[in-house]
Order: sequence, then structure tokens, then C-alpha cells
Amino acid sequence: MINDAHCHFFSPQFFGTLARQQLAMRPAPSAMVAASASEICRQLQWDDPVAVHTLADRWVAELDRHGVNRAVLMASVPGDEPSVAEAVARHPSRFVGFFMLDPSATDASDRARRALDELRLRGICLFPAMHHVALTDDRVRRIVELAAERPGVTVFVHCGVLTVGVRRKLGLPSHFDLRLGNPIEVGSLALAFPNVPFVIPHVGAGLLREALIAADTCANIHFDTSSSNSWIRYTPGLTLDAVLKAALAVVGPSRLLFGTDSSFFPRGWQKGVYDTQRRIVDEAGVSTADAALIFGGNFERLFPSG
Ligand SMILES: [Zn+2]
Repeated sequence: MINDAHCHFFSPQFFGTLARQQLAMRPAPSAMVAASASEICRQLQWDDPVAVHTLADRWVAELDRHGVNRAVLMASVPGDEPSVAEAVARHPSRFVGFFMLDPSATDASDRARRALDELRLRGICLFPAMHHVALTDDRVRRIVELAAERPGVTVFVHCGVLTVGVRRKLGLPSHFDLRLGNPIEVGSLALAFPNVPFVIPHVGAGLLREALIAADTCANIHFDTSSSNSWIRYTPGLTLDAVLKAALAVVGPSRLLFGTDSSFFPRGWQKGVYDTQRRIVDEAGVSTADAALIFGGNFERLFPSG
């Protein structure tokens, strides 16, 4: 059974937000040209999601095509919680809803409360480098407290290198402060909130050593294996095989969550990421039972159905 712990739900609202950001950058005369979600999709040569329900159905068909049981869908701009909530409500047995939250927003706590209590989303996604809020900041602590008060809510923290391909393609600025995504600081939070499961995606996205140290000292830190993990090129000679073996040696199989980082159509679900990681796990001599945890069982434990 395959479950994917890291997919992005690129909703009409997501593209609409990018359209507004692109419009704001244009000089006055061309700003008169209406920017729309469909226009953005045309520029990217990606399929227009059209509506949340059509995109949700397309995701189900895509998961079915590849034999994937369930997937985390992440609202990928702040404020897009309702889109993912609608997708989850339409297909509750297939999707788990996560949402990006900007802790510097004045309504961050209210927004998180609503997303968790009313919209039934189950993961809060923090991008400290993007939102310029340190993990040591009280505003982050207050958000994590909301997760601590609600069993079953996971906190996802992007660390290390952060690039948002879609922003780059559209020429949108990305003023990310990479000093702010240090897994060691996730460790401090995870120690303070031992009952909250934390997920560090891409095994630290370049900060592998720090991610391993943090996870070794905090049993509530998990890694997701998603994306092509091209950050391995920052360490000469490093391979994904070695990364996954190191992660297995330090945290064991029960804290690794398979993920792809799939996002747009027509590309759809990234089977290539799965094939690579499945080969690595098989060749590493991981037992069938442990491999089943990585590719699906740990997901089921963190996000039980129903
Ligand atoms: Zn991602």
C-alpha cells in the first residue's frame, strides 16, 4: 500500500494569488490587462484546475492510476485552506488536508483554529524562510500550542534550501531568508511539545546533519522523503541512497514518510520519485515490514482514516 505524505493542491485560488502578485509587479499600463488564474496556467503551460471539485476528482483518478491509496494535499498559499478542505470533504478516504500558515499574519491563530476545528485539516505547514518568522518566535509557539491542544494535528516545518519552482517560472520574487529554517530549532520546538508530531520534509533539504541531530534527540520528529532531493548536490559525492540509509540508521523506519512533492497537471503524480525510492529501499535490504511502514504504514499511524 502506497500513501504519499507530500502533495500540493494547486487550486484555482492558488493560481489566482499568483496572478495578483504578478499583476502587482507590472508597470501601470500593462497592469490594466486582467490577470487571472487561467492566464497564469497558460503562461506555465500547466492545466487549468478550473474548479476545486474537478481538481479533487482529477487527483483521485491520478492516485487510482498509480495504485496510491491516500495522499496529503497541501494548501500552498496562505488563505487557501477552504480549497483543500473542500477536496478532503469530497474524498475523505483519500485525502489528508494540510495548509500553509504565515505566523506573522495578524489573524494567524484564528485562521489556524478555523482550519483545524471547522475545516478539519490535519497539518499546519510552516515555512520560516518564506515568512521571515524564526521558529523561536512566540508567534510560532502559539501556533504549535494549537496543535498540542488537538491530538492528531501535525506540524510540518520546511527547513534548509527553499525554492518555489512556480514563482521562478513566473518571474515572481522569492525573498527567502534561509537562515530561518534550521532543523535544530525544530528540535527545540519538538522537545517543548513532545506530543505533537513534527515533519521535516526532504530530510532537511540540505541540512541533513542538523535534521538527523534534531530527530535523534526528539522522537516526535519525522522526515518526509519527498521530491527529487536535488539538494544532495551541495555535498560532493552524496547520493540519495546514502541519505536514506543514514536516516534509517538514525531514526529507524517508523519515522520516515514516503512523499513525492507532486503538484501540477498534466505532470500529475511523480511516479519517478516513487520508483527511485522504492529501488533504494529494496537495495538497502530494508525488510518488507519496514518498507511497508515507510511507504504507507507510518502515514496511517499519523493520519488514521475516518
Ligand atoms: Zn513541497
